[in-house]
Amino acid sequence: MAKGHILGFPRIGENREYKKSLESYWQKKINQCELIDTEKSITQQNWLLQKNSGLDFINAGDFSWYDHVLDTSIALGAIPERIKTICRNNKITDLDASFILARGKEPSGLASQACEMTKWFNTNYHFIVPELTQYQSFSTPGSSAINASPLIRHCNRATSIHNTKASLLGPMTFLWLSNSQGNFDRLDLIGDLVVAYQAILSELSKQNIEWVQVDEPILTLDLPRQWQSAFKAVYQQIGTQPSSFSTEQNAAEPKPCKILLSTYFGGLGDNLLLTTSLPVAGLHIDACTAPEQLDTVNEKLDPKKVLSVGLVDGRNIWKNDITASVEKVSPIAQQRGDNLWIGTSCSLLHTPISLQRETRLDKEIKPWFSFATEKLSEISLITSLLNNSENSFFNLDQRQKYLAQNQDAIASRKNSIATINPQLRAHVLDEEKNDVREVKYSQRSNVQNAKLNLPLFPTTTIGSFPQTTEIRNTRKQFKEGNIDREHYRKAINTYIENSINIQQKLGLDVLVHGEPERNDMVEYFAEQLEGFTITDFGWVQSYGSRCVKPAIIYGDIYRPEDITVSTIKYAQSISDKPVKGMLTGPVTILNWTFNRDDLSKEDTAKQIAVALRGEVEALEAAGIGIIQIDEAALREGLPLRKKDWQHYLDWAARCFRITSASVKPETQIHTHMCYSDFHDIIEALVAMDADVITIENARSHDSLLHSFSEFEYPFGIGPGVYDIHSPNIPNKEDIVNIMTQTIRYIPKERLWVNPDCGLKTRNWPEVNAALSEMVEAAKELRVKFQAKS
Ligand code: GLN
Ligand code: ZN
Repeated sequence: MAKGHILGFPRIGENREYKKSLESYWQKKINQCELIDTEKSITQQNWLLQKNSGLDFINAGDFSWYDHVLDTSIALGAIPERIKTICRNNKITDLDASFILARGKEPSGLASQACEMTKWFNTNYHFIVPELTQYQSFSTPGSSAINASPLIRHCNRATSIHNTKASLLGPMTFLWLSNSQGNFDRLDLIGDLVVAYQAILSELSKQNIEWVQVDEPILTLDLPRQWQSAFKAVYQQIGTQPSSFSTEQNAAEPKPCKILLSTYFGGLGDNLLLTTSLPVAGLHIDACTAPEQLDTVNEKLDPKKVLSVGLVDGRNIWKNDITASVEKVSPIAQQRGDNLWIGTSCSLLHTPISLQRETRLDKEIKPWFSFATEKLSEISLITSLLNNSENSFFNLDQRQKYLAQNQDAIASRKNSIATINPQLRAHVLDEEKNDVREVKYSQRSNVQNAKLNLPLFPTTTIGSFPQTTEIRNTRKQFKEGNIDREHYRKAINTYIENSINIQQKLGLDVLVHGEPERNDMVEYFAEQLEGFTITDFGWVQSYGSRCVKPAIIYGDIYRPEDITVSTIKYAQSISDKPVKGMLTGPVTILNWTFNRDDLSKEDTAKQIAVALRGEVEALEAAGIGIIQIDEAALREGLPLRKKDWQHYLDWAARCFRITSASVKPETQIHTHMCYSDFHDIIEALVAMDADVITIENARSHDSLLHSFSEFEYPFGIGPGVYDIHSPNIPNKEDIVNIMTQTIRYIPKERLWVNPDCGLKTRNWPEVNAALSEMVEAAKELRVKFQAKS
């Protein structure tokens, strides 16, 4: 009989109780026991959902109060010395220690420098990067860190509810994701790490856990040879763990746990033979991002081992085509019998919790979706259909009924006129040909300079200004229908007037309207473009207590009317200085939404690009001379395998050009990217052909500028001169210094002075103080460099 399971469930609770409790705890409004109560109730709900949906296992170990990589560091005792000392001296709990690592402080005020945070593979979920030193030790058997680890506590509770599979981040992936502090090879630490993992597995076996899911998603990446060999060595040791850590002499020895090695986010590729030969009891593969690997893996994997097939997408919200899924794995089910498991492609962490509360979704479209809760039943339906037995979770009647419902929904989507618009597709094909600006940068920049007449080192900001409680309330009231359009417009205009006044007083050269009408840089556009839908409760964890609510692209995209024009036009009408038009770029909109599975990313991005080009042209026609198109998420869309990079970068840059290429030479196109790691993508930046790029630089000066000068980046650059993520006010001297260094790499005529990202998370006093230093710095730079040319 095929079995059903998932790789993990969202932690945020159906009503985002995770966020509420966690933030209350940080603000000392509740204590740790109360926080743990929330943890108990969320995990209990999740387990009951899994059990009652008919899964053969429930998953323990997927809960975390910040992120699971961080919890692994804590469980292993891999805590940076600076924080360990504080913890030891103040006897603080592991949980509070984890908050110091993540946020630099814990509720009672103990503080230290936080660890770095970065994105989990190509998702929008972030983890805290483990910091490992050359002589790093990991907790060993019997140490309190391991015994008390939340994993064991969870297993303890879960096993009383249902058959439990524990889940754990694998040692190789943990090591791969970590940062080495100093000059040494991380692989040298593997011996000690294996001992620690053996201890954890041994603890789990004492809880009578039969299966442990050990996540090694790095098996879908390009791995250096040494790492491939290390995989072998590591799994030879932990795949068949000895029970020697058992302290009970007389009691029956607990059985060692079986390992389900789980891989996801891509195919095994050149790691195929390595992976299938590892001495573990089972292997999980992602059959959603890499469906083509299913047969090969099945062929290579010993039939006595469990093959878990991730058929239900953990990264997207589309209803599974149950008929197609069953068909795909039927031959394998016949062959493997009990050794076929059906699962989610990866953890459901990346999908919203439940469709049930979405009462405002369009009636035609809603049945096309499946969120985490609905996906559980899909797995049970697939296994029930495969097993086709009296013992299946769904009986024959139910199987037929649910299958018919599923087929109806799949057919309704396939045949819907809401998804495909042939005229629009023809239009996109036509428009996308126009992807090169008429006049080269070297020439059009002169036209732009003559028209804009900006000083040397022009100052500007990235777009948003403080999102005050007042402006948030105004938007909310308008959305809920409590104030009418006229009132709303007025409130937005008042905000714009205020921000324009402030910028003029500060003496900035290129102004922005401040984005008061935008709740989120993607959702705002998704709300107004056709082909997108928005949920009310579709939250997904981004980092810590922070959640995002990605829009869903379900159909062909077009722009029924102007989106930003009236707002920007108003801002421009009250100032003599140029005001920038402000748009979110096609690749960023694509990368921060749930995408279609019936159209490629590339083709979807082209549709967005053509729609946005309409907006760019409308802005230009309304007299806006500078238009910024943000591509904050371009880099994170890079595929996991290097061989796929070029193709992605080519179409990503091209989509940016489709958006911007039709403007007149004198119209200046800006783009913004709030990161600094450009080494890998600098050629794509050049291919975007934007007149000015503003980037993050405040925390990473030299390395960044090197890339730009090495590649002779030919356009204007605004290297962010201060870090907007911190409330600290930069000072003029520091800014002058940063810019002075920059001039070593980039000619001063092409330099802009700006913060490193939007200012929406800051308050007005901070913004005023910081921008005033920045403007003063630009004045000093002009005096310093104007004469010398
Ligand atoms: N224009 C946006 C803002 O200023 C850009 C945000 C971003 O880069 N994430 O907020
Ligand atoms: Zn930014």
